[in-house]
Amino acid sequence: MTKPADAAARQAIEPVICYPNDTLPTPPMALYDAARKGAKKVAEVLVPARDAACFRVAAGQFFRISSVEGSQVGDLNLWNANDLCEKFYSGKTRALHGTHITTGERMWSSFPHLRPMATVTTDTLGWYGIDPYGGSVHDVIGTRCDPYTGNLLAGTQYHHCCHSNLTRALAFGAGLSLVEAEKHVHDVLNVFMCTGFTRDTGQYFMKASPVRPGDYLEFLAEIDLLGALSACPGGDCSSEHSSDMAACFPLLVEVFEPEPGALEGWQSPPHNQYDRSHGR
Ligand SMILES: [Zn+2]
Repeated sequence: MTKPADAAARQAIEPVICYPNDTLPTPPMALYDAARKGAKKVAEVLVPARDAACFRVAAGQFFRISSVEGSQVGDLNLWNANDLCEKFYSGKTRALHGTHITTGERMWSSFPHLRPMATVTTDTLGWYGIDPYGGSVHDVIGTRCDPYTGNLLAGTQYHHCCHSNLTRALAFGAGLSLVEAEKHVHDVLNVFMCTGFTRDTGQYFMKASPVRPGDYLEFLAEIDLLGALSACPGGDCSSEHSSDMAACFPLLVEVFEPEPGALEGWQSPPHNQYDRSHGR
């Protein structure tokens, strides 16, 4: 293609933010922090390496995902515990908060609900920021590793990709068949994963996660949640996924219940208030 005469001028136009988020309701972080201080642990689930597990968190409880034993990334799905059709919407979360999320940002639910499902209250990797490659941690840009893409690109039949792990975990956790469960598995929050896009080719990249045992990501559940977490077969995602080659470790999920009244004034967010008439 020949460049038009004003190509440089067109390329030099400054970008504008698609969704300025200064009108998003601000989460009451001071209230959450105070409530967390007196909270007691009420449940825990150890997610085995190269496998997934479900967990339940009531609205107003906290849940923490921790690295234990070794550097490991996790693929997180969230559903409304009372309606699996309301699920995490990574694309809209990305549009609202950017490519990666951290403390004070939220995981938003699918249409027609579009409300906060969980708010990040603590991120021990918050110091990482954006590295010189453009990489950052906890992305909402990847999808989830899956056996279909592996089959498309390499003709493989691998059964412990996050997509399959999440499918088995949801089938078990919600009492569904594999076929039914698979329909509800969706694009994830890539917990602890360090990713970005190359500047020269625009390709999705991953690099060794900076997570170390003891690091954690903690959330307040804004609605009643059913979660599923997969300890990705990519391990720390320094080389490859969709195989058993990488060193993999478990991930720990813990649930904490605040003292009664500790969230005084807080309410589980309502469904989105758009009237759904769609112009008709
Ligand atoms: Zn994975």
